[in-house]
Order: sequence, then C-alpha cells, then structure tokens
Amino acid sequence: MTSSFASGRAFKLLINGELVDGAGHVDVINPASEAVIAHCPKADEAQLNAAIAAAKAAFPAWAATSWEARAAKIMALADVLEAQADAFARLLTEEQGKPLAEAQYEVGGSIYTLRAIAQMTLPSEVLRDNELGRIEEWRFPLGVVAAITPWNFPLILLITKLAPTLLTGNTLVAKPAPTTPLTALLIGELCAGIFPPGVINIICDANDLGGALTSHPDVAKVTFTGSTATGRKVLSNAASTIKRVTLELGGNDAALVLDDVDPIEVAAKIFAGAMANAGQVCIAVKRVYVPTGLYDAFCDELARLAAMVKLGDGFAPDTTMGPVQNGAQYEKLKALLASASAQGRVIAGGSAIAGAGYFIEPTIVRDIGDQTRLVAEEQFGPILPVLAYSDVDDAIARINASELGLAGSVWGKDLARAAAVAGRIESGTVWINHVLALDPAIPFRGAKQSGLGGEYGTDGLKEFTQARIISSVPG
Ligand code: ADP
Repeated sequence: MTSSFASGRAFKLLINGELVDGAGHVDVINPASEAVIAHCPKADEAQLNAAIAAAKAAFPAWAATSWEARAAKIMALADVLEAQADAFARLLTEEQGKPLAEAQYEVGGSIYTLRAIAQMTLPSEVLRDNELGRIEEWRFPLGVVAAITPWNFPLILLITKLAPTLLTGNTLVAKPAPTTPLTALLIGELCAGIFPPGVINIICDANDLGGALTSHPDVAKVTFTGSTATGRKVLSNAASTIKRVTLELGGNDAALVLDDVDPIEVAAKIFAGAMANAGQVCIAVKRVYVPTGLYDAFCDELARLAAMVKLGDGFAPDTTMGPVQNGAQYEKLKALLASASAQGRVIAGGSAIAGAGYFIEPTIVRDIGDQTRLVAEEQFGPILPVLAYSDVDDAIARINASELGLAGSVWGKDLARAAAVAGRIESGTVWINHVLALDPAIPFRGAKQSGLGGEYGTDGLKEFTQARIISSVPG
C-alpha cells in the first residue's frame, strides 16, 4: 500500500481561468478499498453556464491565435504533464483502480497523444484549379466544444478530446465521469497556468449536468465517449441546435480465431486483449469464436492464464488486475456472473470477492450460447465467453448479428485469408493478429450503434472544424 495522493488535497473546478470550489461536492471512492479519497467539487447549473459563457467569450481570441501558437501551448501541457507523470499515475490508480503499471502506461500515452496531435496540421486544400475555376476548402473552428468522458480511461480520453479541440481553435468545457474526476481536475490545474482564461474549463457533476451541457445553445459540438444508451441521449439533446456530434460508444468486439494458428500462442494475446484494465475497455475482446478442433486446447489455456492473474490493489507490486471501477459496474458484473454460470460452463474464476473493494475474478466461460446476456451484451469486465464454430461463414454471421460494431480481431497465419475474413466483419476497425492497437495518427470510429463520426487521424481532426468552400472564377 502507499499513502494517498488524493486525500487531504483540495481539488478545484476550472472556470474562466480560475480554480474554484464547486457549489456542492461528490465523494470519490478508491474502488480497491471503497474508502473516500476526496470530496470532489460539484458544479451546479449556474457554474456550468458560467463555464460555457467563459468558453464562448474566449473563443474569438483563441480562434484568431495562430495554429503554431496553439500547438505550442499543447506541447507545453505535454511537458508539464510529463514532469508530473508519477503523481498523475498514482492519482489514476487511486481513483480508477487500475494497476500502477497500467496507470503509468495511460499517462505515457496521454503525453504521446498531446505531442502527436499538436504536430498535426489542416492546411486548406485545392479541390479544383482549371478552366472551370479555382475551388479551395478552408477549415474554421466551430466554437465551444463540450467533451464528456467516462471512467475507464479518465486521463487519455480527456486528452484525446482536449488536444484536437484546442489545436483547431475551439474552446472547451470538459466534464469527466463523477466516479473518476480527479485526474481531470489536476489537468485543469496545469492548464490554468498555460491557456488563456476560458479557453479550457473543467467542471464536475453527479451525472446530472450532461443534459444541460449537451443541449445548451452556445455549445457548437459535443464529443462524447461512453455507453450507447447515454450516447443516444446526447444525440437527441444535440438535435435542438444541430450540434456537431462525435460519439464513441460501446463495443461487443469479437476475436475470430482461424484454424491455422497455434492456439496456445493466440490464447495469450487474446487473453491480454480481453483482460486489460479489468476488461473495462470499449475495444477489449468481449467474445471469442474458436474452431471446434482447437476449442478445448484454447479454452484450457485461457483458464490457465486466468488462474495466474493476481487480483488486488493497484498499488501492490505483484497485482496484475485491479478492481472494477465502481459499485454500479460491480453489481452489473455480479448479475452477469450469475447468469453466465447458469447458461454456460465456468472454467476459471466465476466469483466476486467478498469484502471491501469491487473485485471480480477473471472468468472464462465456455459452452455458452449466442443468445445469452454474456455474449449478446457488452460485459465491460473481466468475464470472457468462448464460443465454438465449425463453419467460418457462420461464425462471421454470428459476429455480425450484434447491433454494435466498434472493432474486432481475426487471428490466422495465412494473412491473405485473414484479411478476406476481416473485410467481412462489420466494425470500424479489425485487427489481424493483434488487438487494442490505437494510434492518434489513425482514424478510429465505430460502425452501427458503436458510434457516430470518429476521432484520431486527419479525419478526426476535421470533425472539430467547419469546412468552407471558396469557389472563384476570373472577375
Ligand atoms: P455509465 O453508464 O457506465 O456511467 P455513461 O455512458 O452514462 O456510462 O457515462 C459516460 C459519461 O456520460 C459520464 O461522464 C457521465 O457523467 C456522462 N453522462 C451521464 N448521463 C448523461 C447525459 N444524459 N447526457 C450527457 N452525458 C451524460
């Protein structure tokens, strides 16, 4: 165990360049102990409106600031984050529960993402230049962007929205999830010393300000990462003023194992892709389809790996999996465990750990049907169903039966065959022989009900801008 970074520290909202108290507070809990680690300031609607008004007032000057100067400020944020990387990682473990090594990886990824996005550009494009005339496409910021983030990767998902918002000349009102607000507030403290007042505002709620934020007439765009159910509400709230909306929602990603692989080798990679962050990853492997001939060996290896996991407090040096992040998710997973053990065969794990902390054993379930809750719904936890198939066309059809389509993976030695199979999976990303591979330079977007629009890459950056066509002929 380690001393608490959060307790005794005063956390503040960032509104119009000022670090301020909230109108109320919410208790933040360490999911490994259920101990209260901080009284987080909670904004009321007046503070939310003040944050939006500050962002609106700051917009003209920030939009007029050069691209290079804005990029330099984002680079400066990366530098101060790097200087405090250790504190951020510890705070992340404390509020989110993930093992310290995974928290350090998230902080490192956040620094990398800030720098990678700060180096991107969106020059105007010449679409036509001939006897019919000259047509260019120029890009302009939108105005105030609302960024709403979830509790599984509280830091990197905020950074993924903050960097492109500010680089393209928009101003920001960010709202983290109420169970993991502290790293966002610490980012607010760093930003207060870097960005002009109002350019970035960070407010916290108790799951009660999302509606007001996403329907506010002065918000031009909402970028949201969270559940499909809440994403639907965001989309509907945004309709009143036709806001731009980017939604990164749930996934029920399948791993499709082909029959030419070594099941032991592939099982290890799929296990890691399913259990990272205790399975609380939108793009985690959520179900595995394995050919009948490899099924037993594959299941046995997954069970062996699950039994080796060291579940515990993220600060303990031997911990390889932490608790799930919050009580609501813990209860949901306990119900899923009960239904999975009734409908399938549990060959590893299967229980929640009694006592303090939201600990769920890494669980492998075999001989379970497609129509069960564990397979048909997104579990978002360390419980992995393994399904057998005898015909690859049938397996693809079963995978595509989901209304979600975030990502997925295909595992095969014959790369041409694996690519042909990948091309038939209805999702925004399909990895071949790897998984969880995101990169700020590569567009990431969900298919079907997994999202709308996308982030990362030039396409993602463009979503923070309004295109204007400038079409001219000789006068
Ligand atoms: P979960 O159900 O697991 O808490 P959500 O998708 O609801 O996941 O949460 C993701 C983010 O959406 C959080 O920051 C949460 O506070 C926020 N949120 C919750 N309800 C709404 C809403 N009606 N509109 C906008 N954001 C919301």
